[in-house]
Parts: sequence; C-alpha cells; structure tokens
Amino acid sequence: METIVAASRNQHKIDEMQAILQKFGMEIISRDDAGVPKIEIEEDGETFEENSYKKAYEIMKLCGKTTISDDSGLMVDYLGGAPGVYSARFAGEDGNDQKNNEKLLTLLADVPYKERRAKFVSVITMVFPDGEAITARGECHGHIIDTPVGENGFGYDPLFVPDGFQRTFSQLSPEEKNEISHRANALATLERLLKERK
Ligand code: IMP
Repeated sequence: METIVAASRNQHKIDEMQAILQKFGMEIISRDDAGVPKIEIEEDGETFEENSYKKAYEIMKLCGKTTISDDSGLMVDYLGGAPGVYSARFAGEDGNDQKNNEKLLTLLADVPYKERRAKFVSVITMVFPDGEAITARGECHGHIIDTPVGENGFGYDPLFVPDGFQRTFSQLSPEEKNEISHRANALATLERLLKERK
C-alpha cells in the first residue's frame, strides 16, 4: 500500500477520500502520523485550485512525502456562487456547520425551488516529493431545500439534494454519497491522471 499524507484535518473528508483511494491501493495517513508540525495554513486563495495546491504543497514541504489535499465548497446560483471558497467560514471564523446552514437558509428565504440550484465543488491536489502536482476538479449538481434533513455527512449535506435523487446528501448512505459526490468525481479524474502518469 502506498501511503499518502492528508493535508486536511477534516476527518469527514479524509474518510471519504480513503474509502475511494483504497481501491487504487493507496492509504491516507494523517498529518500527525506523518510527523508534520501543528501549523495552520491560511486559505487565502480566490479559487479552490489555489487553496488546494497551497495546502498540499506546504504539507509536502514539511514532511517530504506525497500529500493530498481537498479544497471544496458549495456554490449557490442565486447567491452568485457564494459561499464558494468561503464555505467553511460562511457564518464567520467562529461559525460551525449549523450556523453556516442557518445563514444559507436565511439568504434563500422565499426563493422558489427552481431558483435554488447549487453545486458542490472539490479540487483535489496531489503533490509529490519532487514538487510535481496533479490537480483534479469534481462537481456535483443539485438543489438547496428549505429545511435540514438527514443524519449522515457534514457541512451543507442536510440541505443539498443531488440531481436524480429525492433525498439529501445527509440521507444517503456514505457509500451512496461516495458514488456521486464532487469528491468522488474529482478522485475519479485523479485516478485517470495517475494512470496516465505511470
Ligand atoms: P475547506 O476545508 O476550506 O475545503 O472547506 C470546505 C467546506 O465546504 C466545509 O467546511 C463544508 O462547509 C463545505 N463542504 C465541502 N464538501 C462538503 C460535502 O461533501 N458536504 C457538505 N459540505 C461540504
């Protein structure tokens, strides 16, 4: 098994990436297990691509091992693509998933269903010890409903109904989400790019 260091500390993201990457013979290990000093990497990029690359590159520099990062977020059409790269901090630096969801629902109050289109975006970057980087973007399109439903997942999952489903991401099993999610789509592209590289 090839070990890859996760730049992210978000255990939900790590679990989702691990579930998919194990099919390719890769095992994700945490930053702590790789001996990376505890530092905060400022996500000051204007795009998912910039933030994703920065996180993976900085962690690779600190441990010298192949590193994988995911920068992701929700883009809502009616809000001009917000919260976008600010998805994690939408309700402020001290916010949390619940406050982010409440803010989103407030901004979409009285907006009819057909105008509540949104997509999740994930940009996954793998940076190798020689500095080479591979970047893969995945999306998942759907709607934002007007009340949170479901127990699984994290973030905006209870509000997002993917196209072709009548249930939110939070109502899908982890296996179902991992078949269709933005992260799964990005990892499928990453797999193709890794194969081409060999
Ligand atoms: P990041 O850590 O800066 O990439 O922030 C990602 C944020 O986007 C998370 O904190 C969530 O708010 C949101 N997000 C990304 N992926 C998902 C997902 O799969 N489900 C729900 N929310 C997500």
